[in-house]
Amino acid sequence: MARYRITQIEDYEPLIGSEKVERIREKAGKFKDLRVANFNSTYYGGGVAEMISSLTLLMNSLGLRSEWRVIQGTADFFSITKKMHNALQGGEIDLSAIKKEIYEQVIYENSVRNFLEHDFVIVHDPHPLPFIEHYEKKCPWIWRCHIDLSRPDAEMWKYLRHWIDKYDAVIVSCPEYKQEMKPPQRVFMPAINPFSIKNRELGDDEIHERLAHYKIPTDLPLVVQISRFDPWKDPEGVVEAFKRARKEVDATLVLLGNFATDDPEGREIFESLCACQDERILILTSGDDTALVNALQTRAAVVLQKSLREGFGLTVAEAMWKGTPVIGGNVGGIRYQIENGVNGFLVSSVEEAAECIVRLLKDEKLRDEIGQKAREAVREKFLLTRYVEQYLDLFAAFDEDFRLQE
Ligand code: UDP
Repeated sequence: MARYRITQIEDYEPLIGSEKVERIREKAGKFKDLRVANFNSTYYGGGVAEMISSLTLLMNSLGLRSEWRVIQGTADFFSITKKMHNALQGGEIDLSAIKKEIYEQVIYENSVRNFLEHDFVIVHDPHPLPFIEHYEKKCPWIWRCHIDLSRPDAEMWKYLRHWIDKYDAVIVSCPEYKQEMKPPQRVFMPAINPFSIKNRELGDDEIHERLAHYKIPTDLPLVVQISRFDPWKDPEGVVEAFKRARKEVDATLVLLGNFATDDPEGREIFESLCACQDERILILTSGDDTALVNALQTRAAVVLQKSLREGFGLTVAEAMWKGTPVIGGNVGGIRYQIENGVNGFLVSSVEEAAECIVRLLKDEKLRDEIGQKAREAVREKFLLTRYVEQYLDLFAAFDEDFRLQE
């Protein structure tokens, strides 16, 4: 049995200190055997799955009984939910009766298959949102929305409000994502698990081996973006910025991406990007290899996350944790992670991104300084222990009538 182990709260002591560890342990002690159900729509490929995976394990190691269930859906269901996701982030949607029927029917079918005897139900993102209408409510229900909600399409929002208002609390990722709604809202910024294969410290040999395996050249500095192939992540802008930067300083660009099961747009975008490939612009799809993600984020001279919209952008914290300078789009959650010019750079255009790439590639000292501050910022603000404590405080704040006390 000793071969298998999950991260324990004590493992965080060297990172956050024994006082915080003790405080979290004490808070969790009040919730021994508390049954928590988490529902989302994909088991891999994206920040939400990444966090639920680590968070449920940490909660279990603290004595709670935290479950993770993934809803099943048809291809057309995921095509509709992706459109809904885009509409919540400000895109347009033609919300036809048939789309609504497919969406609601698939959720209903999932509810028939899922029996709930829990003390808390946490529903992640819009996909499983209507779940709530199919159960007799016996505990607090929380909607955890990971999306940038600052400018939702009005029709989309009106349609979803019907279910949102039935929840007992809503958690959003940034203060500006709060919206008009009935349930009380809380802000929990995402966080990373520093002990996962994706984030733990790798040896030089391991890094070298992973990069060699994918034939990634290391003769020139690496400029890297790791993201789902999605227009909001602006992969084309990254290629453009890199091409401009390369006129001044030579480097290799690696765009690594994966496809989430709940995201049908990715393949098309990937194919169109492949047309830009050359010997110094690599478009790779082995993004499900988490050790490769780690190796690239660690080895890169510069990591980009040039998003045009971004709920949070876990990739930013991941790279910052490895002491790598990050150039991020000046949007959404990225702005809470990067302090411009201090522990990274925020950019609003291809030109700005290109300038920052050049500046960082030419100045190793600047890279080191920024990288150190970046790691420190993540240690202070974006480790999973902060996140789990916020959940424990939230659980503690409900009264017997499922009302959240201030
Ligand atoms: N990711 C990955 N491989 C890829 C692309 C992304 O493992 O090829 C991971 C990435 O490391 C991060 C998550 O997927 O943990 C993406 O989360 P983020 O919040 O950045 O974006 P989202 O996909 O949720 O919009």
